[in-house]
Amino acid sequence: IKHEVAQEVKRMRDEHSVKPRLFAVLVGDDDASAVYVRNKVRACADVGIESEQLDLPDSTTTKDLLAVVRKLNEDKDVDGILVQLPLPKHIDEAAIIEAVDPARDVDGFHPTNVGLLVMGRPRFVPCTPAGIIELLERNKIEIAGANACVVGRSQIVGRPVASLLLQRHATVTICHSRTRDLPSVTRQADILVAAIGRAGFIRRDFIKPGATVIDVGINKITDAAEARALFGDEAEKRIEAIARRGYTLVGDVHPVEADLVAGTRTPVPGGVGLLTVAVLMRNTLQAAKWRRGV
Ligand code: NDP
Repeated sequence: IKHEVAQEVKRMRDEHSVKPRLFAVLVGDDDASAVYVRNKVRACADVGIESEQLDLPDSTTTKDLLAVVRKLNEDKDVDGILVQLPLPKHIDEAAIIEAVDPARDVDGFHPTNVGLLVMGRPRFVPCTPAGIIELLERNKIEIAGANACVVGRSQIVGRPVASLLLQRHATVTICHSRTRDLPSVTRQADILVAAIGRAGFIRRDFIKPGATVIDVGINKITDAAEARALFGDEAEKRIEAIARRGYTLVGDVHPVEADLVAGTRTPVPGGVGLLTVAVLMRNTLQAAKWRRGV
């Protein structure tokens, strides 16, 4: 995807002297958010998109941030506006999301873009769900007619990915913390998407033999015993990583158990996360094309 975006960005620059531009706002000092924004800014440089990052302190109020967003909305040189979530607790996240110009909402979180997606007329699609669809399509996993089960119903992953799967004619089940006998539901799925936020939660008995398992979760493991229970042959390498940098990452799917039954499983790290950033680049390019008519 990044290669395709880079080629198109070059064409726009050569033929129309247009350079797409992304503006990222980071509020507070959440380490994970800082890493995500840094990766997005780096990806922009890789594909030739211009980017700017504004770091605001944790003390920023809703009013302060609204003023920043409104200023960005007025800046005609900005094609994509991204406010990294989650925001500090005291900020009214919904108000901020609704303030972003929907025509430059490259995260696809604005109610207008959410509504269009649910209606089956997507404009900006949230990056992780769009990345999941890319992953399935580029690997020729048949979506039409498949039983797809999404565990998790968040606005940023679960709900939008369910909409996208439905639009591609899967029979979609959405599960959450109140679902009864979860394994018996997930076991029906040809395509199982886990977006829960619990380390190794999806185990062998949750998975239909041969299923395609998309692991969205990103969870930090800091305990050697837990790493041993999750990683099998790879455990010692992971324990070393914990000793070196304090943690290792695992998805929502138990890697060793899943690989005993699943047809395929996306790895964590190195799976869905990579696509998320690539789709953000594509959304920014798309915003620039629509806004500038090139
Ligand atoms: P949220 O915390 O917003 O949502 C979690 C969902 O999981 C909720 O709908 C919740 O149900 C459901 N859930 C929690 N516990 C259970 C349970 N025991 N059984 C069934 N369902 C359960 O998480 P996000 O969607 O934001 O993120 C999910 C994971 O994906 C996280 O690990 C996050 O870090 C990762 N992520 C990865 C990205 C990437 O690029 N790879 C991008 C975004 C997120 P309920 O609604 O009932 O509470």
